[in-house]
Amino acid sequence: MPIELLRPEVSSKIAAGEVIERPASAVKELVENALDAGASRIQVEIRAGGIEFIRVTDDGIGIPSTQVELAFQRFATSKLSRAADLESVSTLGFRGEALPSIASIARVEMRTRSQDEDSGTHIEFEDGELISQSSAGLPVGTTLMVRNIYRNFPARRKFLRSPASEHSRIHSVISHYAMAYPEVAFELRADRGRPFTSPGDGDLRDAVSTVHGRRVAESMLEVSSEGDDLTEPAVGGLIGPPTLDRANRTYISLFVNRRWIQSRSISYAIEQSYHGFMAERRYPVAVVNISIPYEDVDVNAHPAKAEIRFKRENQVFGAVQKAVRKTLTEHAPVPEVSHRAVNRSDAGSYPQTRRSPEPAAFWPTAPFSASRGTHGSLGSSPASHHTMDLGDFLAPHDSSETTPPPPGVTPGKALPVLRVLGQIGNTYVVAEGPDGVYMIDQHAAHERVMFERVRTQAAAGTPDIQSLLEPTVVELDSDKMELILHESEAMSGMGFVLEPFGDNAVILRGVPALLNESDQAGALVDVLDLMAEGGGFETWEERAAYSIACHGAIRAGKILSPEEMRELVTQLEECAQPNTCPHGRPTMIHMSSGQLEREFGRT
Ligand code: ADP
Ligand code: MG
Repeated sequence: MPIELLRPEVSSKIAAGEVIERPASAVKELVENALDAGASRIQVEIRAGGIEFIRVTDDGIGIPSTQVELAFQRFATSKLSRAADLESVSTLGFRGEALPSIASIARVEMRTRSQDEDSGTHIEFEDGELISQSSAGLPVGTTLMVRNIYRNFPARRKFLRSPASEHSRIHSVISHYAMAYPEVAFELRADRGRPFTSPGDGDLRDAVSTVHGRRVAESMLEVSSEGDDLTEPAVGGLIGPPTLDRANRTYISLFVNRRWIQSRSISYAIEQSYHGFMAERRYPVAVVNISIPYEDVDVNAHPAKAEIRFKRENQVFGAVQKAVRKTLTEHAPVPEVSHRAVNRSDAGSYPQTRRSPEPAAFWPTAPFSASRGTHGSLGSSPASHHTMDLGDFLAPHDSSETTPPPPGVTPGKALPVLRVLGQIGNTYVVAEGPDGVYMIDQHAAHERVMFERVRTQAAAGTPDIQSLLEPTVVELDSDKMELILHESEAMSGMGFVLEPFGDNAVILRGVPALLNESDQAGALVDVLDLMAEGGGFETWEERAAYSIACHGAIRAGKILSPEEMRELVTQLEECAQPNTCPHGRPTMIHMSSGQLEREFGRT
């Protein structure tokens, strides 16, 4: 289809003006354009996390010379023409907004040659204005260069994060699309860190291997289910064995018709399937694509296209859950896991699946255009489900100094010496002080204790280290590897003793003694995940301390001995800010003697 301006009755139906928020959003749009153009090779180069420079090169069909300028106009697209087309979008792009949006906030240069023409076009824009256009001898395909995002928009530029953090977002975009399109060779090069490349050999496992490491990829189990008829969702991909558990959901990658999406409910469907196989509050590694008729999903629901709307969400939820569960039970006997009892670094020893030579077998590709069928709802309602993890109830970062103190507790005031009386619900420690009763949340309190200790030890340069009897090689995701290399100071400040070992692994020689951990490799992976997630903390020192505290703190529900309770309370008494956890939630509730007397009508 040629590029054309959408008629107003179509463009008015498009979910509001897309904003390029940050370099990663520009990269995502450009990579999606390259994929829509049928590229088999996509190279991305960035400088300063993409803030200074982005170049995306593809070997796709290119743009005919007469249409290049048009491509930069708002609502100019070759991907749909009628309003009805919006009901069944089969391409990643469809709004004709990306190129004009990017050109309006940066200096942009495109070189492109259509497969049908002998020469190509070179065109330049600055802040949305056309600067030059000329013909040029070029290979077939398209290169887009973006310079100085938001240079003329200081207010927006302020919202960009550090180059390292923008880089990691771009890395995430590329690595996800590399898993969605195993037949496309991706490359990401930056002015810092090692390049990321995927082979583009069409084998999902090979693509996953470049992202999550070879051992993880090899241990993963194939999911492949076709719906009963063509109108039902087909679920394909690779999922980790239950022994491969992680501290958060970031290892669950979801795609719908190979579009990378975020979906709390589908993620939950996967987590639920592991129920009974995996400890509470641990999350699987999964790379799952749902193939579904285009008309059953609304991709026009979110400006960044990250969230989509399913026509029949229950049906999709059920299909995912069924497919994942089937894979897990087929690979039984699946070991029952008691919390932390499994050595997670052992994932490679899980019985391996046969490698499929045929990617299509476990990665059904998208081309669905089947007609609509009628369905009853399957499975349970995802909307009614909710899981709890730290992320759910920890407020966004809120410095404890500014948080209102818990009831009855004066902020910043040191704790008096307390006498432990016992434990309630295996979750709260009850203690008596000079003025009444204190109920202490054992998890929140221990988080506070660990948070302060890590920070103090790191600041003094004297972390307590638990040395490993035998150094262990730990394989890591490429982005975690980056994190280690660039935050080596934060890592060693906490007490991790490690050195790089090849491209995707480290030799671990010691871990923070504070963690009191038997599975050191697993602890390293967890702490890195938590650091990457950040927990709302900005500096790497705080992120590191938060990560240790979050990983290592005693859980709610754990029975504590009287000694353990006394130890916890003593440690809390020593804290500078004993009243709140690192995120500002209360660690304790105090009921004064006066209050007690009033409640019992003694005064
Ligand atoms: P959309 O992708 O929503 O159509 P864009 O603004 O991203 O809107 O792109 C406008 C048009 O420019 C596309 O419809 C496509 O025809 C063309 N185009 C953009 N990038 C490329 C590319 N890398 N290769 C070929 N054509 C492209
Ligand atoms: Mg586009």
